[in-house]
Amino acid sequence: MVAKRVNVAIVGGGLAGMAAADVLGRFGVKVLVLDDNLHPGGQYLRGGRQAGRSWFDPVRHRGLSLIERLPQSSVEIVNRTEVLGIESGFEILVADESSGISAISCDHVLLATGARERFVPFKGWTLPGVLATGAIQILIKQSGILPAAETLVAGAGLFLTAVARDIQKSGGRVPAVLDEAPFSKRMPAPRLLVQQSAKFALGGAMLARLRLAGTDVCNATRIIEARGHDGLREVVAARVDRSGVVIPGSETAYRAGCLGIGFGFTANVELAQLAGCGLAFNSGMGGWVVKVNEDLETSAEGIYAAGEVTAIGGAAKSLIEGRLAAFSILQRMARVNSINMRREISALKKARRRQMVFARYFNAQYDFAAGYMAEWMRSLPDDVPVCRCEDVNLGDLRRAVADGFDTPAAIKKATRCGMGICQGSTCKIILLDVLAALTGKPLAHVPLPSVRVPVKPVYLGTLAGEGP
Ligand SMILES: Cc1cc2nc3c(=O)[nH]c(=O)nc-3n(C[C@H](O)[C@H](O)[C@H](O)COP(=O)(O)OP(=O)(O)OC[C@H]3O[C@@H](n4cnc5c(N)ncnc54)[C@H](O)[C@@H]3O)c2cc1C
Repeated sequence: MVAKRVNVAIVGGGLAGMAAADVLGRFGVKVLVLDDNLHPGGQYLRGGRQAGRSWFDPVRHRGLSLIERLPQSSVEIVNRTEVLGIESGFEILVADESSGISAISCDHVLLATGARERFVPFKGWTLPGVLATGAIQILIKQSGILPAAETLVAGAGLFLTAVARDIQKSGGRVPAVLDEAPFSKRMPAPRLLVQQSAKFALGGAMLARLRLAGTDVCNATRIIEARGHDGLREVVAARVDRSGVVIPGSETAYRAGCLGIGFGFTANVELAQLAGCGLAFNSGMGGWVVKVNEDLETSAEGIYAAGEVTAIGGAAKSLIEGRLAAFSILQRMARVNSINMRREISALKKARRRQMVFARYFNAQYDFAAGYMAEWMRSLPDDVPVCRCEDVNLGDLRRAVADGFDTPAAIKKATRCGMGICQGSTCKIILLDVLAALTGKPLAHVPLPSVRVPVKPVYLGTLAGEGP
């Protein structure tokens, strides 16, 4: 069944994966990059050069140039391809749109699978017209489409401002950005401010442009309900106090046909979990991440990880880690020998440590204390949907926990939460938050549910070898 043999297989063609492929390719190492998107570049470079100018964004500029100049004799990129599993040895199980299922054999694996958005549910969050902020960005960057002339943006974290600004730049109006986090979380420590002055200047400029265009930017504000029958008509939001309790009388209703929501990011750890790599829970790094050492080796021999999957930290960190992981693989192959290379490795490690400080600040924006989360969850009514694929709502979870099903694995079996077509990609993290709130356990003690092949949805016909 093995269709191909390479030195290194890289799962994920985002900044981390492409930076690694570039370094390895320049050393003549046979590399295969497997990615399920239409084009290389992952989330950050989506839409390529067509998505706008890049000269004012050095990371974007570097990423795009790197893809354009990849050493093609040694690097092969296969897009529209899902990696379904990794067997020891290594054999990588792949589902390809055109040729169905096949296996790739390799000596080293680099997992650069990125992250996805995280959500906290509320009444009406599954109504037509309510979109993930990431989905809005994809529509804009990849297809040049605005979902609506006017879009309300809400949730928690710095990404809300970025998406609101993307909407505005594309000609859309954003009446308000509603952020659950208090303004105090936005204030960086003086050292971080100096270290990452360019990032903070960009963030400040974004906020100023939004405000100038008449966008209300409200902190400590929660979405209470999205209302409408066949689609979104109105969004009700309210102010919250420091302990997560809604302040009575602070409710505001916004007329809205489109609402973008996002509550930060969660690393795509499923393949690493399946391959037996150790995971760690670290709220400062964005929750569950792949455990790596300074050389980006995972606990599984021969498997490396780079980018958002090791800690949610943004595009610059992914670029640095991609290069660093490639050098680690080269070291393992005994291909790193010059003083200059060792100097570059140590410079990359230093730069990575600096990015980790920013990561802690970034993730703090959507990391709320256990008591705050418990209060938030308690305030949600029973009919709030949690798993939309299997039609499981919060009341179902509350009843299951009361009946003693108090782990993700038990609750999955009792309610089918997370067993639908999206394989829990959205509700799995919500389930962890709900379980921590209902059981009073720290989030770090609520284990992730186990994973099996295939980690991505695939047609049964494709699995059975019927081809596309
Ligand atoms: C929706 C979204 C929008 C974002 N927008 C921004 C932004 O505007 N600005 C910003 O600074 N940061 C943004 N981020 C954060 C962003 O992830 C990083 O800045 C940067 O793109 C990370 O690079 P990466 O290589 O680590 O991961 P990614 O760019 O996410 O690349 C990972 C790639 O791996 C692919 N993949 C994952 N699993 C599999 C599998 N099993 N089989 C095949 N392919 C797989 C993914 O589809 C993706 O193409 C965004 C993140 C998301 C999720």
